[in-house]
Amino acid sequence: MQKNDEFIIDIIDVTSDGSGIGKQDGMAVFVPLTAVGDRVKVKALKVKKTYAYGKLIEILNPSGDRIENDCPVFNKCGGCAYRHISYSAESKLKENKVYEAIKRIGGIDLKPQKILTGGSYLYRNKAQYPINCEGKAGFYAFHSHRIIPCKKCLLQPEIFEKILIAVEEFVREYNISIYNESVHKGLLRHIYLRIAEATQEIMVTLVINGSNLPYDEALIQRLKAVCGENLKSVQLNINRKDTNVILGDICKVIYGNPYITDILCGIKVRLSPLSFYQVNRQMAEKLYQKAAEYAKPDNKEVLDLYCGAGTIGLSMAKKAKSVIGVEIISEAIEDANYNSKNNNIHNAEFICADAACAADMLAKRNINPEVVIVDPPRKGCTQELIKIITDEFKPLRVVYVSCDPATLARDIKQFTQCGYSLQEYTPADLFPRTTHVETVALLIKK
Ligand code: SAH
Repeated sequence: MQKNDEFIIDIIDVTSDGSGIGKQDGMAVFVPLTAVGDRVKVKALKVKKTYAYGKLIEILNPSGDRIENDCPVFNKCGGCAYRHISYSAESKLKENKVYEAIKRIGGIDLKPQKILTGGSYLYRNKAQYPINCEGKAGFYAFHSHRIIPCKKCLLQPEIFEKILIAVEEFVREYNISIYNESVHKGLLRHIYLRIAEATQEIMVTLVINGSNLPYDEALIQRLKAVCGENLKSVQLNINRKDTNVILGDICKVIYGNPYITDILCGIKVRLSPLSFYQVNRQMAEKLYQKAAEYAKPDNKEVLDLYCGAGTIGLSMAKKAKSVIGVEIISEAIEDANYNSKNNNIHNAEFICADAACAADMLAKRNINPEVVIVDPPRKGCTQELIKIITDEFKPLRVVYVSCDPATLARDIKQFTQCGYSLQEYTPADLFPRTTHVETVALLIKK
């Protein structure tokens, strides 16, 4: 195969980032925007030794999974991967993605429980928009810092678009300078929006390369006109660093409270701009209910590692004998302690530390949890942590909540080599229309 060759292939599989895969001359060809079951005409864009990247030229025979794409920036903005196939096809792909990872990387051939789905398609309760040099908010293109202007995102509540329009008008009228990352100059870097779905409380945070926002009163008036009573918090996040990390460490309230409050699994959850919170509240509830079903916390000691603002552990605390949460970000631990008090929970304790260090320390304190929950970031648990769990705590049940099937599978393998077996696992679609999928797995002591 040579670059620019054109040929016809059948799409037989998808990659983890949503590209279709076909075969030509014994080589895998990756073709974005295709669906399993398509027969397509493709042009080779890049040819390597064992695989190639192709561009879709024409769909000769469409897959039965295809639907009409409804978003003008699909495949430009870097958000959705699956607006061209039905949701039922997408959820099957995700179920299979988790199954394949556990089989291939984890070495265990066990079918998943049915993927958890449902909730709103406008599910995102959080968005961070860069702003282009003309003062238009949008999203970064896939793997890039090119800004695709877009205010109406089909995964986000409609109020976000109205807020963006208000901020853009304010920026134009008061000549607020826009941050230019190539020269590290200009004031406004990002607009960061959060909504607490259950209460509809709204938080607007402007990330700025400076310490003040001129004419901030005028901005607040405009935001009030758009959000009404639901506007509970307007903040500045100070980020003067020459970095592509979006948020700085310091937040300054310019209107209302420093946080908004959502309700998750019956728990009031205080959210400040810096603390982690699942972006899909309705599906997070289903995920945590499944985690509780696996954990069986009734009258047991529960250890919740990587606990964020404490949500998983607190949602089980009323049934459990005690809960200990561990998290590395101090603001999240402050939120966890507050959330515990605010919900009249008296049997929870939170520790700000690295999960493995805290586990080591707790093992020395002779803590004996019957259930250990882990919910690590994408890179998964450290080997050291798994060793402490399996050799020191030896809990009857480990509940593993994961946002990355590959590292989940890797870690499950280590657990199974250390006296645990994978009882069952359930994928959960917290991110419809994107490639991401969560999983909750139950490991039991052999
Ligand atoms: N369980 C929480 C948060 C999960 S996200 C929830 O469901 O909302 C993963 C969390 O792990 C984040 O809050 C992150 O700050 C935290 N984290 C990352 N590295 C860590 C480490 N080494 N030790 C402890 N916590 C860590």
